[in-house]
Amino acid sequence: MPIETPAADSAATAAPAEGQRDFVRQIVRDDLASGKHRAIRTRFPPEPNGYLHIGHAKAICLDFGIAREFGGWCNLRLDDTNPGKEDPEFVEGIKDDVRWLGYDWHDLRHASDYFEVLYRSALKLIGDGKAYVDDLSADELRDYRGTLTEPGRNSPYRERTVAENLDLFQRMRAGEFADGSKTLRAKIDMAAGNMNLRDPALYRIRKVAHQNTGDAWPIYPMYDFAHALSDAMEGITHSLCTLEFEDHRPLYDWCVDNVDLPAHPELWQSVVEQAGIRTIPAKPRQIEFSRLNLSYAITSKRKLAQLVNEGLVDGWDDPRMNTLRGLRRRGFTPAGIRLLIERVGVSKQNSVIDYAVFEGCIREDLDATAARRMAVLDPLKLVIANLPEGHEETLVFANHPKDEGFGTREVPLAREVWIEREDFAEVPPKGFKRLVPGGEVRLRGVGIVKCEEVEKDAEGNVVALRCTLDPDSRHGLPGADRKVKGTIHWVSARHGVAAEVRLYDRLFNVAAPDDESDGKSWLEHINPEAKRVVHGWLEPAAAAVEPEQRFQFERLGYFVADRVEHRADAPVFNRTVTLRDTWARQAGA
Ligand code: ATP
Ligand code: MG
Repeated sequence: MPIETPAADSAATAAPAEGQRDFVRQIVRDDLASGKHRAIRTRFPPEPNGYLHIGHAKAICLDFGIAREFGGWCNLRLDDTNPGKEDPEFVEGIKDDVRWLGYDWHDLRHASDYFEVLYRSALKLIGDGKAYVDDLSADELRDYRGTLTEPGRNSPYRERTVAENLDLFQRMRAGEFADGSKTLRAKIDMAAGNMNLRDPALYRIRKVAHQNTGDAWPIYPMYDFAHALSDAMEGITHSLCTLEFEDHRPLYDWCVDNVDLPAHPELWQSVVEQAGIRTIPAKPRQIEFSRLNLSYAITSKRKLAQLVNEGLVDGWDDPRMNTLRGLRRRGFTPAGIRLLIERVGVSKQNSVIDYAVFEGCIREDLDATAARRMAVLDPLKLVIANLPEGHEETLVFANHPKDEGFGTREVPLAREVWIEREDFAEVPPKGFKRLVPGGEVRLRGVGIVKCEEVEKDAEGNVVALRCTLDPDSRHGLPGADRKVKGTIHWVSARHGVAAEVRLYDRLFNVAAPDDESDGKSWLEHINPEAKRVVHGWLEPAAAAVEPEQRFQFERLGYFVADRVEHRADAPVFNRTVTLRDTWARQAGA
């Protein structure tokens, strides 16, 4: 798939309801205009078998965003029909992440809230002669199913009587049969061109404790059946999902139409009354859109879980991970993520979005919202030799160059300051604009210093620079405007606060780690440079901050106080993103 870089101005403006004109919103608009629906109801249905990733953000922004834009509502529904893989830890994580992205749900539901309704619906289908209990083994089922080019064959159990099927299904529910020994199948058409309609399974036997219902059920509904009927139960009008479910839509509609919950209150009324669930069942419509794929990233829960389980990263919230918690810990912002989703747009065209587009969205948001601070990550001492020993003063810096609303802060200065080692070169490469022996540079907000002497240790390493400060170049004096080539940042050595700073980068060093056509596993493309830990110095106003406070460290990039480990007296910062894209050049783009 080609990698796309949507133009920055394609949809940059915050979108009011009329703003975004994708095909999903158009369907919604038409349905409201025609009176088909008076209100829009959507749902976001993750399976709680892992944490959400950046791909899910697209579904969240669509499901919740469209409901909000059109004055409807959106449920959060945990699609928990696979016991064993699901965990309450993930349920809590998903709730947290949805809220963090800026959305709230109308009702919190679980597919398992409807297990009794689904069971009664299955009995109804059996009674109508539309479902039967099959004894074929998994291997036999596969064999009978046929292929894309050959029709399937009817199971020898397909013509069981309604009475026999009811009896067997009730005994499945009572736990009389072993796992995998029987399934309940819809009776549709074994010759259907769409394989999903070849008598798909509706229920399987699985004696495993469930994260919500414990040991109450030895049988579990299959995804298509549970999903369609859960949507119908909640009165969902537009059921948005990704393109891989397009082929499932006929089955989705079959379940919705043949059970027909709105016409059969006996299937659900007493259940919802007992559970205190408010609902008006309806017939939903499924609409598919393309998945979000990002270059240099993995958007599969299974693979993200593998990274965690094999210890290749430090957990689901490792800042290198494309999980929402990883991105959050890394300092990515909800607004920046929402901007990405808006820019990517909604279509039925599968594509891969360049990771640089994502980083660009984050930079754009942080440029506007992050206060500026100074930090030195690879320190070299600079002595301002013509200031007296014990000199101390307080400078006042603007917190944001483009927005006075951020106010000002005090920045202490003493005779010795830290500068970045790379801002000095004894033998400057061509075009070097910073400090060299005998040369001048502006110390940001202080004045112009001249390097008079380079101090070295026994091995010849530079350990300090002795400089003089031009007193006429100080802020507010007539000489302050005198031109020099470079301006560098600094931190007062006596006042600086030692910090651990984690320099993060992309987790994979190739654009398509998933592409295994070269015979290499995606795990071989992990970027060993994606995490580098350094120790540097912060100006005091960068240290005494709350976890998750974000800054631009001048000239270095955007950073966030780590939400787990940062403390004012022992700061820990994560680099969110550099100020400029450093990957385009490497990729030769
Ligand atoms: P994964 O393959 O990573 O496990 P999933 O689709 O199985 O993802 P679910 O928890 O079932 O994960 O997904 C919940 C919702 O999020 C579904 O509606 C699904 O279509 C949507 N979704 C998942 N991944 C993406 C993606 N990359 N882009 C857009 N929507 C996605
Ligand atoms: Mg899924």
